[in-house]
Amino acid sequence: MLYFYSCILPMFSGYTVIVKSIISQRLKIFYKKIINANKQLTMNKENIYSAELLIRLINAIPSPIFIKNKKHQLIFVNDALCQLLGRSYDQLIGKSDYDLSPKEEADIFWEMDDKVFKSRQTNINEENHTDAFGNTRVIQTKKIIFEDSELGDCLCGIITDITELKQLNEKLHKIAYQDSITGLMNRAAFDEASTKYLENFHSKHQKFALLYVDIDGLKFVNDSYGHPVGDKLIEETGKRISSVLMQQGEVARIGGDEFVLLIPYCEQHEIIYITEKILATLKQPIELAKRKLTLSASIGIACCPEDGSDMVSLVQHADNSMYEAKKKCKGSYTFYKKEYTSTTKRKLELEIELRQTLENEQLEVHFQPIFENKHIVGYEGLARWFNPRFGMISPSEFIPIAEESGLILLLGEQVMQAAVDFINKYCLKGEYVSVNVSPTQLKHYDFKSNLESIIFKSRSNSSQQLVIEVTEGLMMNMNEHLESLINSQSLKDIKYFVDDFGTGYSNLSQLKKLNFNTLKIDREFIKDLPSSHSDISLIKSMIFMANEFNMKVIAEGVETEEQKRCLIDIGCNYFQGYLLGKPAKQEYWG
Ligand SMILES: [Mg+2]
Repeated sequence: MLYFYSCILPMFSGYTVIVKSIISQRLKIFYKKIINANKQLTMNKENIYSAELLIRLINAIPSPIFIKNKKHQLIFVNDALCQLLGRSYDQLIGKSDYDLSPKEEADIFWEMDDKVFKSRQTNINEENHTDAFGNTRVIQTKKIIFEDSELGDCLCGIITDITELKQLNEKLHKIAYQDSITGLMNRAAFDEASTKYLENFHSKHQKFALLYVDIDGLKFVNDSYGHPVGDKLIEETGKRISSVLMQQGEVARIGGDEFVLLIPYCEQHEIIYITEKILATLKQPIELAKRKLTLSASIGIACCPEDGSDMVSLVQHADNSMYEAKKKCKGSYTFYKKEYTSTTKRKLELEIELRQTLENEQLEVHFQPIFENKHIVGYEGLARWFNPRFGMISPSEFIPIAEESGLILLLGEQVMQAAVDFINKYCLKGEYVSVNVSPTQLKHYDFKSNLESIIFKSRSNSSQQLVIEVTEGLMMNMNEHLESLINSQSLKDIKYFVDDFGTGYSNLSQLKKLNFNTLKIDREFIKDLPSSHSDISLIKSMIFMANEFNMKVIAEGVETEEQKRCLIDIGCNYFQGYLLGKPAKQEYWG
């Protein structure tokens, strides 16, 4: 029995008990009951005291301990094991795993015990263990074999309950590898998964495609309905993509509205089939915030090995292709082409040049007149950028770059300053000047104070002639910011126009509530006049609604006499467009 104790105790670091060859009362019982030995045990007083002390010590150890004989029967258990299994000492002694655990668990315990008996090597294993009440815990069991002259080969085990540790590890793993909104892989997990795809390509020549998916207009949803709705949209997108993939690839969310997919394939048509299926699934309406929203996504595709055989190139090429798809037509897909890389390069270079231009205050602001019949009643200030290296750059190219890079704040400030200067110099008959304000500008905490400072410095009543144009989408979700501007004493004279009306999702009650002055009908409704009857009906409805709210209506993009005449016939009296005047430098209007 000396060996019996000397096996258990060294398993605990810090326990330095010198074990004598003694047998306690409890051990006497199992001797009699289990091995039925009638051997006379002679114990003196000192030995009995030492045995009791040792048993108390083993029972005080918080880790569960057990000993099994070669028949896999428990012949010794400590109190911690009784507690772990939810059974008493007597309910455990003499029992095998099949008496105490579900068969599938007992099979594993039995097999591992056999392994230790045969190999006589220490074994550490992680197992699930279900207690008497049906609660399953994760345990780590360290098993060691020892020989006893009375008992023969025995197996001694010490258990560590690692359930909480496992749960914590799982939580940490989720945080590290799982996207919190969709439950899909995050970027770190994607990096690991992509390594396997590359290994498969190098070892088995298994081709794969990397799809870069970007939800169209998520920013609009976030701005309009709030981020919780935007998050729901992201979650739904993840679910829909996963339902198309059906385990045939990997999907991860790697950014705000960006997903990447890895799909093994043999022929290109397989990729086209999956991509088109994803786009079709995403186009199905989704009910959020008590509205039916229709979302779409743009997808860029890069294939390994044709477009690259390392992840950095593949992700970059798929990303470039996605931007091309978005530019071409939202809700579409594009396979990578070499020239897309130069587009991205141009974007980066333009951002650097734009920063320089703004810092040197070299951005130009042109003014386009707005007419009532034949008289100019106002102007729209429009940013224009000529770069010596790149030539004339369209606002449709540099404004998104300014938005993405945050340069829009500085740009907006310079346009506003130019508008105020123009009012003071050239609008002596009271003509107004409107400037376009983006959500990024409006949300910025400095916007209001910068505007106040520009107006204050001008030392004039320019605010009475200043107009802020906000797009329809912005009007809906920027109430808080707009209300704060509208209600501020220093800016009370500024007027507000709704720009590009008819292209967004209007909350008409906001038009009235926020006291907008004018609607600008988007050029999309004007370009097919006078032949488009549907456009005529829509414009009539807009004019009717504007009249109800005491608002004026300006038609944008008027380019022909026929369009103008048609607009006058249906009750629109304010015009802006190339027919009447192109945007020009401020001196032109002097
Ligand atoms: Mg405008």
